[in-house]
Amino acid sequence: KTFQQCGFDAQLMAAISKAGYERPTAIQCQALPAALSGRDVLGVAKTGSGKTAAFVLPMLVHIMDQRELDKGSGPIGLILAPTRELAEQIHKETRKFARAYSMRVSAAFGGLSKYEQVKDLKNGCEIAVATPGRMIDLIRMKACTLLRTTYLVLDEADRMFEMGFETQVRSILGQIRPDRQTLLFSATMPRKIQRLVADALTNPVHITV
Ligand code: AMP
Repeated sequence: KTFQQCGFDAQLMAAISKAGYERPTAIQCQALPAALSGRDVLGVAKTGSGKTAAFVLPMLVHIMDQRELDKGSGPIGLILAPTRELAEQIHKETRKFARAYSMRVSAAFGGLSKYEQVKDLKNGCEIAVATPGRMIDLIRMKACTLLRTTYLVLDEADRMFEMGFETQVRSILGQIRPDRQTLLFSATMPRKIQRLVADALTNPVHITV
């Protein structure tokens, strides 16, 4: 399997090689075609497997298809992660690839000034990387709406629940159109996560690495 076989255009291929990626990892080989076809994805995988690119690259293709249609200002792609550290890491990785299309990636997590985040979100973005608590804050402050969101990633879902974010995650889910594409990654599959999968994903492709 190669990245070329995924049908990425020259700009994105250039960003992939600039990141130093020569060939897709195991999870990328499985998740990329599924996500690119528009299917929901359930990935049982850990950090270090290359799952960030597995959900970010199809997200960029999805946004390229959508952004001419809808001129709103909220994120088209939303990535939720349990901790500020993970969100920061995802934010960094996402920006490497989003640059290929000059897409704006907003951050919504602790440790950064809320004022700056509000300003950033209000200026418009195609992608937001957030922790559930901070996302809820920003929605309440009317700094961000999810009316335009059509691609949602729940990363490390089990850890989000362990950290007590179930209510926030479900509240955010309720604000995103149900015909969105949803990708959920989790290292473990406790009953609560199985229930979330049943509630939030439609006929997902299951991937285990
Ligand atoms: P992740 O599991 O997404 O946190 O990725 C773990 C690390 O592997 C990160 O430093 C990525 O930049 C790197 N990585 C992901 N996919 C590839 C790939 N196909 N080739 C080389 N490095 C990769």
